[in-house]
Amino acid sequence: MEIKDALLRAQEAAAPEVGNGRLAEYIPSLASVCPNQFGMAVASCDGEVHAVGDADVPFSVQSISKVFTLALVIAAEGERIWERVSREPSGNPFNSLLQLDQEAGRPRNPFINAGALVVTDRLHALTGDAFGTLRDLMRRESGRSDVDSDAEVARSELEAGHRTSALAHLLASYGNLECPVDQVIEQYVAQCALSMTCRELALAGLFLARDGVLSDATRLLSEREAKRVNAVMLTCGTYDSAGDFAYRVGLPAKSGVGGGILAVIPDRGVACVWSPSLGPSGSSAAGLAALDAFTTYSDWTVF
Ligand code: GLU
Repeated sequence: MEIKDALLRAQEAAAPEVGNGRLAEYIPSLASVCPNQFGMAVASCDGEVHAVGDADVPFSVQSISKVFTLALVIAAEGERIWERVSREPSGNPFNSLLQLDQEAGRPRNPFINAGALVVTDRLHALTGDAFGTLRDLMRRESGRSDVDSDAEVARSELEAGHRTSALAHLLASYGNLECPVDQVIEQYVAQCALSMTCRELALAGLFLARDGVLSDATRLLSEREAKRVNAVMLTCGTYDSAGDFAYRVGLPAKSGVGGGILAVIPDRGVACVWSPSLGPSGSSAAGLAALDAFTTYSDWTVF
């Protein structure tokens, strides 16, 4: 089936789920987003984009940003980050403190909050400006030069972010942060509050489908590094339901509590879907249904 037809089927399949579930109420400014929105965009490796619904409405990318910070750290210094972070699915909620303490301050993977804090810390130590480095990449690859963090979402998360603070301090107590704790938290919250559309995120993620090659034909990652980032997305990108997500969708993906999901189809392209209501494990309920249908009706799948 043609991509644009598969997208329409995906939108149809998602419709009953739109608005079902809960918003990410623990970040107060995300609790006021209208839940009845749905958008999806698919960018192919040559940069062509097909889109449906609210694909041009900006939303809070939240944890989807963690894929890009991981790629930037690996681009800067290869695979040294694995000395500080493991790469196993956690099977625990994304903001859990328990496993981090049990495992002596070494986070299970770079996509749970503890692991993402270590990645941001490393990027900040390497560049002196983790958020600015990420924002530059997003601006270049999305084609929108004013992509930025939503200051209100960042402020709201900072005020309510007791668990993030607790995780960061626990990491520091184990000696697994290089930069001052408050700086790491600030950078992390700013990256999560990036505001982008499905179309922009699909374009920004294309280097992962193009074996590490950016839109200007330079390389961010080697082919092998891009393979590795995609592999970690497949096993750890969708919280403690990565197994069910792989079963239903079968793509490397990263979800965020803003309701977005970015999925990579190597050598084909990137799909980004957004609908704010979250299912029990924290991924968008309608987004999951849409990607399930999309990989069923198109031949854009890795299985
Ligand atoms: N900023 C969110 C948090 O730290 C990100 C969570 C997510 O999207 O998974 O809780």
